[in-house]
Amino acid sequence: MPATLSHLECSACGEHLNANELQNLCPVCGSPLLARYDLAKVKASITPQQIEDRPRMGIWRWQELLPVSDPQYMITLGEGDTPLLHMPRLGQRVGLDHLYIKDEGVNPTGSFKARGMAAGVSRGWELGVKAFVTPTAGNAGGAMAAYAAHAGLQAHVFMPKDAPMTNQIETQIYGAQLILVEGLINDAGKAAAAEGEKNGWFEMTTLKEPYRIEGKKTMGLELAIHFKENGQWKLPDVILYPTGGGVGLIGMWKAFDEMEQLGWIGSERPRLVVVQSDGCAPIVKAYQQGALASEIWQNARTIASGLRIPAVRGDRLILRALRETNGTAIAVSDDEILEAQWLVARLGGVFAAPEGAACYAAVIKLVESGWIQADEKVLIYNTGSGMKYNEILPKPVI
Ligand SMILES: *Cc1c(COP(=O)(O)O)cnc(C)c1O
Ligand SMILES: [Zn+2]
Repeated sequence: MPATLSHLECSACGEHLNANELQNLCPVCGSPLLARYDLAKVKASITPQQIEDRPRMGIWRWQELLPVSDPQYMITLGEGDTPLLHMPRLGQRVGLDHLYIKDEGVNPTGSFKARGMAAGVSRGWELGVKAFVTPTAGNAGGAMAAYAAHAGLQAHVFMPKDAPMTNQIETQIYGAQLILVEGLINDAGKAAAAEGEKNGWFEMTTLKEPYRIEGKKTMGLELAIHFKENGQWKLPDVILYPTGGGVGLIGMWKAFDEMEQLGWIGSERPRLVVVQSDGCAPIVKAYQQGALASEIWQNARTIASGLRIPAVRGDRLILRALRETNGTAIAVSDDEILEAQWLVARLGGVFAAPEGAACYAAVIKLVESGWIQADEKVLIYNTGSGMKYNEILPKPVI
């Protein structure tokens, strides 16, 4: 396959960087870097129909829009191509005919972190990385460990001491070094950065590395096929996304732009909704204040460990995506999350992670307030499997 990746671009100052060298943050201003492609070349080499006709090959169905060019480095464990599930009973409970769940719980390692790590670890491997390090609230560490194991590379994972036991176990069974840290993911981040620097491990920290976002971008790409109408790729009206670091949300937003530039979709966009827990809602607070950036959230606490991210590096990009798509941001309580988890299981047949269930709790509120209309196509991302959270029990409500 011809290399389509052209360069990296700073999301804040616009600086261009060589994509064939390992890069972390922008060396000029310290902001996240975004991968840019030669889209004319992509357009000349593949059509939407050819992509649809490809067999299942993990995220690499989209390889012309991903950063790895040599197939021998395209690691797949079967991530991606997750089902889009229509949820009639769950929808009818709130008066929606077109409520869908994109079920990321069926990914390898039980969460959509697999998509990001498939791309990030593969590209790092292609560029010669032998050892990776990342802080994690839980799922990213397990996913990085799995992809590194498959390629025979080293993984070092810094995790809060009270992260779910399943995450601690999976990280170790894949052969990664697990380092438990006092405090939250931002404390783990400091330790990971220091040890990485000292030992020459490449940092895979959320948005401190430009390619995990590319893997998560495939969630947005797949939607265009799911919502196809009259032979034309289309998107839903509203997307609810449980937001921690916001990588998936930024990734989808980027995917939509790339598809529009390729002429694969039109200019309409889904309204993007950030869903957080009221015990850790830095983006919701910033959005409500009309701010361009978020502040660190004090005493972050929620059962949805993937949402327990008090300091958000991609805050400016997330807030921009909300403004540009006429989206919104909403917080729900842990009690509401537990209820929603039970409802999604009972009325939908999906044992959602608390993060995914939070989105149904948000749907209930947004339908009540009139922000979501009855005839709209509404998509919830269930970002992980409820089976990974074996310390919490959903709360019966019916
Ligand atoms: C990491 C994680 C999130 C948050 O994802 P971001 O893209 O970083 O916002 C949500 N749900 C689950 C299950 C996660 O593991
Ligand atoms: Zn910059």
